[in-house]
Amino acid sequence: MQTWMYPPDPTEKNASIGGNISTNASGGRGFKFGTTRDYVKALKVIFSDGSSSFIERGKYFADKNGKIVFDTYAGKKNI
Ligand SMILES: Cc1cc2nc3c(=O)[nH]c(=O)nc-3n(C[C@H](O)[C@H](O)[C@H](O)COP(=O)(O)OP(=O)(O)OC[C@H]3O[C@@H](n4cnc5c(N)ncnc54)[C@H](O)[C@@H]3O)c2cc1C
Repeated sequence: MQTWMYPPDPTEKNASIGGNISTNASGGRGFKFGTTRDYVKALKVIFSDGSSSFIERGKYFADKNGKIVFDTYAGKKNI
């Protein structure tokens, strides 16, 4: 059996992991262990047009105009 550990421990127990990641939630333990962001290495993101991308931390950065080009399973996507 695999054990998962989520040290940031936000107080709201009905929150989803997607909501936690999106808001970088953390509770009191975040002072010692860091926030949710510190425990996210990669995300599989589904865009509104149905295309998707596996996004690893540090792989993509916005340009000076705030635009990002993602590699999706269906080709390049400009956001
Ligand atoms: C009683 C209470 C206690 C709380 N305590 C804390 C606390 O200790 N620490 C803290 O940081 N915050 C706290 N919060 C705030 C809130 O719980 C956090 O921000 C929480 O992480 C939000 O998660 P959610 O699932 O409710 O997201 P939502 O409020 O449903 O969504 C938040 C945002 O995330 C987006 N989102 C949600 N799921 C996904 C997904 N799968 N993919 C992409 N985007 C997504 C939504 O579109 C929205 O923009 C608390 C809130 C309450 C009501």
